[in-house]
Amino acid sequence: MSDTSSGRPRVVIIGSGFGGLFAAQALRKAPVDVTVIGKTSHHLFQPLLYQVATGILSEGEIAPATREILRRHENTRVVLGEVTGIDLAARTVTSHVLGRSTVHPYDELIVAAGAGQSYFGNDRFAEFAPGMKSIDDALELRGRIFGAFELAELAETQEEIDRLLTFVVVGAGPTGVEMAGQIAELAHRTLRRDFRRIDPTTARVVLLDAAPAVLPSFGEKLGGRARRQLNQTGVEVQLGAMVTDVDADGIEIKDADGQVRRINAATKIWAAGVQASPLGRLLGEQSGAEVDRAGRVAVQSDLTLPGHPEVHVVGDMIALDKLPGVAQVAIQGARYSAEAIKRRLAGKAPKGPFEYHDKGSMATISRFHAVVDLGRLKFEGFIAWLMWLALHLFYIVGFKSRITTVLHWLVSFLGRGRSQRVATQQQVYGRLALEHVGPGFEASKTGGPKTTPADVDVTGRASA
Ligand SMILES: Cc1cc2nc3c(=O)[nH]c(=O)nc-3n(C[C@H](O)[C@H](O)[C@H](O)COP(=O)(O)OP(=O)(O)OC[C@H]3O[C@@H](n4cnc5c(N)ncnc54)[C@H](O)[C@@H]3O)c2cc1C
Repeated sequence: MSDTSSGRPRVVIIGSGFGGLFAAQALRKAPVDVTVIGKTSHHLFQPLLYQVATGILSEGEIAPATREILRRHENTRVVLGEVTGIDLAARTVTSHVLGRSTVHPYDELIVAAGAGQSYFGNDRFAEFAPGMKSIDDALELRGRIFGAFELAELAETQEEIDRLLTFVVVGAGPTGVEMAGQIAELAHRTLRRDFRRIDPTTARVVLLDAAPAVLPSFGEKLGGRARRQLNQTGVEVQLGAMVTDVDADGIEIKDADGQVRRINAATKIWAAGVQASPLGRLLGEQSGAEVDRAGRVAVQSDLTLPGHPEVHVVGDMIALDKLPGVAQVAIQGARYSAEAIKRRLAGKAPKGPFEYHDKGSMATISRFHAVVDLGRLKFEGFIAWLMWLALHLFYIVGFKSRITTVLHWLVSFLGRGRSQRVATQQQVYGRLALEHVGPGFEASKTGGPKTTPADVDVTGRASA
């Protein structure tokens, strides 16, 4: 049992992403004991994951230790563990790490467990087309991308070289666009002179989406410009293209006209669709709140659950007024919920419903080129890229990380280099190997109980 003896109200926060971290920061001076439970020991700046996958940044620059960020918060304890159970009636949260389970009682709960990848019911695609949601994913992709060029150098036939030098990115939202643009730059600029038998500039980068537009949320004009810029960077954009199958050697696609075709490609990257944390369904079952197909909980206008004013849900897990799954929704929701807790403790009336202020969206396409949508104001090209640069630098956590990030950007954007090209076997094969071994691996390696109690594990983990 995790508890404190201070007698102050206990606030438990699940997740150390944007929602969890900003909620903890907003409660720094509040007369409460805060426990942040995260299944990783780091906070992750997801918007730059694609730069870790393509060798521009190191994982440490976008994933600082949560404990270090919150070290000056005297009222806050950071705990490593995957939450597998929430009991709304008993007001407890149960977390697990390496065979050890801990129960955390709470007076107020903030759930900010985010979302994972969705393969729209085709989870078997994950083996061949990893998504990009975590540091593990980004490092695995880095190994697969750089590894494809290495294997192509050794390939015996042109057919094999073509398959190895074809990269397919599924999903033409911001993540897919940024990923495809960076792979094209890697092939056409960075690796141009690094090989003797193959010509990396002949690599084919395909960005496909079942929808008829690139960056649909940015509107027709910016989406069209992004598409043209992608073409200039060397990315083939294929729209109205629905993925029907994925295997080790390629991808099968059904076009809008019903034609089925195949692209042979060694590297496939899934950047389409999200599924909220399974904790959302658990909250729905216990509170009666509706949960949509993407697993998001229909929260009330003050971000709490029906009948549970002490349970706040923020970020990618919520379904409210069609709010998008972006960092600002999580940050603003976290600050709002922290404020609501402080007001209740001070005996003040609630502030009113949560109001989201859209600060706009942006995506980079290539070096020196981005699109920025600030509502009525729209930018593209170099100015947009500078805006993107400044904003991301502002949100990167920690002074040291900002300095090293700028240095790595200079190396990649002014020069041709990529500072982080290391790819280990562990990164490339680790995930699949663990999935084959199964959940028993965790306990057997740590001396913990031989089986994790299946009845409390709601996370649907396929592996340790
Ligand atoms: C590749 C990528 C690029 C993106 N680019 C942008 C962008 O450019 N701009 C933008 O605004 N948004 C972007 N987003 C979306 C943005 O990152 C999310 O909307 C935001 O992170 C949501 O915050 P959150 O706190 O809800 O979830 P997250 O930030 O995902 O945090 C969830 C946290 O919960 C933890 N967790 C999950 N399950 C459990 C559990 N069972 N027990 C304990 N801890 C758990 C996770 O480890 C993590 O710490 C991007 C997302 C991705 C994946």
